Amino acid sequence: MIKTLLVEDEPAMRRLLEDVLRSQGHDVTACPDAETAWEVFRRDAHALVVLDLTLPGMDGLEFCRRLRATPQGEYGTVLVVTAKDSPEDLQAALAAGADDYLTKPVEPKLLRVRLAIAEHRVQERNSLFQANEKIALFEEQSRSREAFAGITGKSEPMQEIFRRLRLAAQSDVTVLILGESGTGKELVARGIHSMSARKDRPFIGVNCSAMPETLLASELFGHVRGSFTGAIRDKAGIFQVANGGTIFLDEVGDMDGALQQKLLRVLQEREIHPVGAGRPEKIDVRLITATNKDLSGLLSAGTLREDFYYRIRVFEILLPALRHRKEDIPLLVKQFLSEFSKSYHRAEVGIARTALERLMKHGWPGNVRELRNAIERAFVTASGNQIKLFDLPDEIAGRKSGEGDVKTERQQLLDALRKTGGNQRDAAKLLGVSRVTVWKKIRQFRINVKDLKSA
Ligand code: CA
Repeated sequence: MIKTLLVEDEPAMRRLLEDVLRSQGHDVTACPDAETAWEVFRRDAHALVVLDLTLPGMDGLEFCRRLRATPQGEYGTVLVVTAKDSPEDLQAALAAGADDYLTKPVEPKLLRVRLAIAEHRVQERNSLFQANEKIALFEEQSRSREAFAGITGKSEPMQEIFRRLRLAAQSDVTVLILGESGTGKELVARGIHSMSARKDRPFIGVNCSAMPETLLASELFGHVRGSFTGAIRDKAGIFQVANGGTIFLDEVGDMDGALQQKLLRVLQEREIHPVGAGRPEKIDVRLITATNKDLSGLLSAGTLREDFYYRIRVFEILLPALRHRKEDIPLLVKQFLSEFSKSYHRAEVGIARTALERLMKHGWPGNVRELRNAIERAFVTASGNQIKLFDLPDEIAGRKSGEGDVKTERQQLLDALRKTGGNQRDAAKLLGVSRVTVWKKIRQFRINVKDLKSA
């Protein structure tokens, strides 16, 4: 229902206009002067204003100018209804921001036609206003952010990713996410879904490489009872369950050619054919796909259908490898540590500079996932409130690039053990680490404690 503000000082005219508006289904607030109308508008910005020009006190032109100067009023619709009908009056009204102009005496039939136009304008401007608000909100949120839709990163490549995420979320395009293993493709897909108009509908992720092709088809599109051996009852497919929402197909490069063709048809016709069903079903699903493979390679090898490829790569998001955004590592480490202290119900844990420096040197072939796993392992091992170089997994603490540091660590441990006569508990205290850590490091560095005791 359109909220309409009627400003008209002549009682009979006001009643006539009000009757017509109500008969058209408007929610009308009628005011005898512009001052009252302004008070009403400030409390509740009506979408449509039907305005007389000659009014006691503030005139209609002034009211119109004021209204247009407000954020909501800028997107409102103003229909002037007046006895003043000179070209100059018309021009003045348009200059003040009126959308349409109707002269008195008012012919109700004509008024209804003009109202229909005004109603259409109200709808259009309303959606425009909402889109604009949305963009403003996104811009506000994205100004040099450290995290966006659950994705962490303040580096230049990630700011660009956030920008593309916003675009993807606002539209309903099919998105293809590219990136090495562990770069967070599913997180990005979820981020797009959670910011999109589909956010209150299901998000379902499927790993295409984890399932045999026949099973995948029935998982995706469902099947009817008896359509194949073992199909003992009807089963809804992922497309049916996710209707109105988003489906994320990971490892789409591994999908079989026949299934690619089926999926292509689903995307084009927006309907699915459950396995064994006679009739197709309409569905409305946003598809997001991802792969860590080089799709153009698959294309030339013939394992990827060209039509399918072009259909899924409408909007590409290429996630950077962690080694190309190393400045995000401290931020990610901080985020993971605070996550783990929550999930393990432990006090906040920090990280020693030397350990962080080591993380910055590592190549991270497994990307963010590898970093997360490393931090979790270190978190579990670490005693006290800080992760030390000691606590990092061996492959990251690095015997190759970090030989020197490991030597230092080994030497420190040896010194401590010597000082304490091989007593691991005392050595742990001396080093400020747990006994478990000392025990692990003794094994890692192949230290013979008995030798130390006898020394
Ligand atoms: Ca008047």
